[in-house]
Amino acid sequence: MDFVSLGPFMRLRHLAMALSNLPPHPHLDVSLEQYATEGDFAARWIAEIVQRGDLDEQTRVVDLGAGNGILGIGCHLAGAASTLLVEKDQRCQHDYEGVEWLIGDVHEWSGDDVDLIIMNPPWGAQIAMADRPFLEAAFNSEAGVVYILHSAKATHILPLAESMGWKGEIVLGGAFRLPPQYEHHQSREGVTDVSIWRLIRN
Ligand code: SAH
Repeated sequence: MDFVSLGPFMRLRHLAMALSNLPPHPHLDVSLEQYATEGDFAARWIAEIVQRGDLDEQTRVVDLGAGNGILGIGCHLAGAASTLLVEKDQRCQHDYEGVEWLIGDVHEWSGDDVDLIIMNPPWGAQIAMADRPFLEAAFNSEAGVVYILHSAKATHILPLAESMGWKGEIVLGGAFRLPPQYEHHQSREGVTDVSIWRLIRN
């Protein structure tokens, strides 16, 4: 893992360390389903994106439901041309040079000026279909590629993508540690399986 290079910019281990040191997601609002991605997993995911040729210094990135911005900031550190973090909960916002924030609901984002969308949205476990506006915003946007982290149990992502003119596949899986307040829907000891989908236009 140490020697995986993220293009000319950074090695995977350094990216994981930088992301692990971000101010943590405040985890304050259960109704917003704030499951934060950990630094190591975020870095592995971003390395996968770079290796697939979906992220380079030309790429404009938008992170929807950004939380502390870990995914978007990871893309920024891997060399993205620009990074916009869209997050409803202002308590998540912190100063980070080189990235912009849009503090507001996902539907307030225009969908313009984007090549790559990365997101770990609310999964819809607390509020049914809370992920829907995120999926629709992504598939209606100008992006050419969309990466989504969701519960490995989710079965609706590909059918919805296909109905909106996109196609894709699962490219990465992992186990996700849940904060204690979510333990009522854990599958094992505070851990739940996640998958990452990569979607492109059909
Ligand atoms: N992407 C971050 C956070 C994931 S949790 C990470 O991977 O760590 C999902 C995030 O979506 C939370 O921070 C929550 O506040 C935000 N969110 C939930 N509903 C939203 C909405 N309608 N519009 C914008 N952000 C929303």
